[in-house]
This record gives sequence, C-alpha cells and structure tokens, in this order.
Amino acid sequence: MKAHDGIYLDGAWRPADGQDVIEVVNPADEQVIARVPAGSALDVDTAVRAARAALPGWAATPPAERSARLAALRDALVARKDEIAETVTAELGSPLKLSQTVHAAVPIAVAASYAELAATHPFEEKVGNSTVLHEPVGVVGAITPWNYPLHQIVAKVAPALAAGCTIVLKPAEDTPLTAQLFAEAVHQADLPAGVFNLVTGLGPVAGQALAEHPGVDLVSFTGSTAVGRRIGATAGAAVKKVALELGGKSANVILPGADLERAVNVGVANVMSNSGQTCSAWTRMLVHRDRYEEAVALAAAAAAKYGDRIGPLVNAGQRERVRGYIAKGVAEGARLVAGGAEPPRERGYYVSPTVFADVTPEMAIAQEEIFGPVLSVLPYDDEEDALRIANGTDYGLAGAVWAGDEAEAVAFARRMETGQVDINGGRFNPLAPFGGYKQSGVGRELGVHGLSEYLQTKSLQL
Ligand code: NAP
Ligand code: MG
Repeated sequence: MKAHDGIYLDGAWRPADGQDVIEVVNPADEQVIARVPAGSALDVDTAVRAARAALPGWAATPPAERSARLAALRDALVARKDEIAETVTAELGSPLKLSQTVHAAVPIAVAASYAELAATHPFEEKVGNSTVLHEPVGVVGAITPWNYPLHQIVAKVAPALAAGCTIVLKPAEDTPLTAQLFAEAVHQADLPAGVFNLVTGLGPVAGQALAEHPGVDLVSFTGSTAVGRRIGATAGAAVKKVALELGGKSANVILPGADLERAVNVGVANVMSNSGQTCSAWTRMLVHRDRYEEAVALAAAAAAKYGDRIGPLVNAGQRERVRGYIAKGVAEGARLVAGGAEPPRERGYYVSPTVFADVTPEMAIAQEEIFGPVLSVLPYDDEEDALRIANGTDYGLAGAVWAGDEAEAVAFARRMETGQVDINGGRFNPLAPFGGYKQSGVGRELGVHGLSEYLQTKSLQL
C-alpha cells in the first residue's frame, strides 16, 4: 500500500504544515497499514488560496476542454482500477469483489458521465429577451465519508470540475489512501495546478477549517446528520451555498402481490452489502401481516447465508455503535432471528448479519440510522398503514417498493417522502439525481442535477 507523506496542493505533493499523522488501519486485521498527514487549519488555508488562484483560469476554460480533462481523469481511474479496489479493501475492509464491482467501477461510470455532460450541457440559455449564463459557483470545499470512499469523492469533484469550479477535498480519516490515489489520477489527467487540492486530516480540525473558510463558496458534505447540521448552520451564517448528503432509514415496502422471496432476498442483500454501511440501505422491511412470518423466515435464512462473507465495519467505534443498537433492539423487545451483538471473530471489526422481527415503528432500531448489517422487519395491516410507517421517520433518502405490477408499485412510490425509490428491483442509475427529502439532506448529486449544484445563474437582458 503506497502512501504519500504530503498533501496534494497546487499541482504537487508538498509537506504538510505540522507533524501530526493519521494511522490508517485495516479493519479486517486491525493492523496499521500506512500513515498520512493530519492537515492543519494552515494547510487548509494554503489549499483554499491555491484553489482561489486557479479559479479564474479554470472557470474560463471552455467546457469542451474541461470535458477532455474529465475524460483523461476517467481514463486514469480505469488504468488504476485494480489498485483502487485493493486500496479500498485494505482501508475500508470491503470484500475485494465488492471493491471491484462497486467501489472502483461506479466512480469510473460517474466520471465518464461528467466528461460527457461537460461537453453537452447548455451553459447558456435564452429566456425571452434574456441570456442566462450558468457560471461556476467558485471554490468548493468537499468533505467526504469513508463508506463509499471513491464514489463520494468523484460524485463531488467530477461535477465541480465540469462546472468550472476549483476544489479542496478533506476525505474521511479512515480512508485517506483512496483519496491519495484519486489525487494521483487527477495529476495524471493534467488538470491545471490548484484546480484540485487534497488535505487529509481530522474532521474537527481540517474539516471544520474548510467548512468555515471564508474563501470557500460552496461546502459539499456527505456524512452524519449531526455534523451536517453544524456545517449547514456555519454556511447559513456566512450566506454560503451548502449541499448536505446525510443519513437515511429507508423502507423496503413489500406489497401483498409481490414476489415475496425475491423481494426479501434482494432486500437482505441491499442491507448486508458493504456491511450495512450504506446511507441509502433499506434497513426497514415492511411486510403485510398475512405473509409476515414467511418473510421473517426468508430474511433470517438469507442473512444466515451471508454468514462471514461480509466484511468488517470500518473501525472499532462503528462496531461498538452497531453492537449497542443490537443490544437496544433486544432490550426494546424486538425478536432477534439472525445474528446478534456477539462479535463473530476475535480479530477485525466484524458484526454478524442481524435480523430483527416484531419491530414496532417507534423503536430506536426502526428510527435511527444504525450503519451496520442490521435489518428490522415490521408488519403492516394495510396499504395506508404501510405508507404511514414508511414515511414515519425524520429521514427520506431512498426506498423500494415491490408489487404484483409496476403501476401499483409506482402509485405507492409517488406517496413516499423520499428522494429515490427502486421499483420491483430497479437498477442503480448513475445519471439519476440522488439526495434526500426531510433530514436526509439538502441538494442532489449525480447527473445533470448534480452538476446544477455547482452552477449559479447570471441573467443578461438584451
Ligand atoms: P462524520 O463524522 O459525519 O464524517 C463525515 C466527514 O465529515 C468526515 O470526513 C469527517 O472527518 C468530517 N467531519 C467530522 N467532524 C467534522 C466537523 N466538525 N467539521 C467538518 N467536518 C467534520 O461521520 P462518521 O463519524 O464517519 O460516521 C458516523 C455516522 O455518520 C455513521 O454511523 C452514519 O450514521 C453516518 N454516515 C453517513 C454517511 C452517508 O453516506 N450519508 C456516510 C458516513 C457516515 P473524520 O473522518 O475525521 O471524522
Ligand atoms: Mg467522524
């Protein structure tokens, strides 16, 4: 595992201001695999200045040329896809196959989509006697989490570059090596110096300095609701644009006419994938009372089948947090039908795939984001009851509906207070807007909607 001992600033790897380091740990065996700089507020300031200085040139670069640089970035990621997958596996702990098919492949698709959008997006439009210009917002401060370490970086950096913005990235402390690999790909793609800058570091130090920096025009954050709320408040006080992609507690609604076995199996796979560390995971499965016990048995069997095929959680703190929720579920009276709080292995931050039945909508395990391989199965009486339960949380990021026919599922999905719904197992679409209703966030990522976050309009009356 290669690690840089500097930060990527103004087109080169440079020494950080201080001596502080982050130790990167492999969560599968708890060994330290690398050390990277823990950047200071001064490092952030230097990086923001570099991004500011690079802004006029990059903003004035024709979209076709920005598209060419994004295509080069995509190619650099493609050339490094094996290294990316191995790095994500080493620092996040995800099984190598998942790292290849999701953690490396999805960001490549997203980078490709923005190479195309940069070339085709109308950055000017006519409205009556006006010409409306879609101009870059300016310097972007991007703060990303560890659960999809490269995807979350690319979902911010690629549209920002397409829009003509310059960027300072503060990645999660748990997964800085993937971020360093990304910076290498940027370097290879020949972007002008200062357009992209990377400061590895801790949230309350480097992250906070970036979110508060007056030289940042837009803060784009993905992570916990607690930190997101603070970043939103800081941005509000500074009258600064902000995009927040926060947590979720999404519902998987299985209507009576659905193919129950398929709906349950896909639902369990959705929750267990990435060890449950997915903001859009369908962690509440809603099943009609008539087929409830059948669904619970199927879910328990599907979870047991995962056994030790899932990876560890990212760190010891997350494991303890998830174990705490499992204990709470038991204490609240839910029925444990698979897994449990006991660690399945001596080494590594593993948690067994866990399923709770007899979960009621007000229990903590049905309301709060657990961020681990834990599924709650809830019974409902009729469609109105299912809708009430599905919409009955502070979150609204994603969801799923299964029904005998598509029209019935779509009709239900229209009434859900959530930003994305997969109908009868619909596939992930990297061009579809992704983001939350309610406390799941502000703004959208991916596709043309994601690009719009990084643009502001100017109207010229002619
Ligand atoms: P987090 O603390 O919100 O971390 C997200 C990012 O924000 C990281 O880069 C983090 O740095 C940074 N950060 C932390 N405190 C900050 C501050 N005061 N100012 C600016 N930036 C700050 O999330 P976490 O601790 O990694 O995970 C906790 C919970 O968040 C999870 O259990 C889950 O519920 C939720 N989460 C949601 C998503 C999602 O995709 N929606 C992703 C990850 C986590 P550090 O890495 O140094 O902390
Ligand atoms: Mg944190």
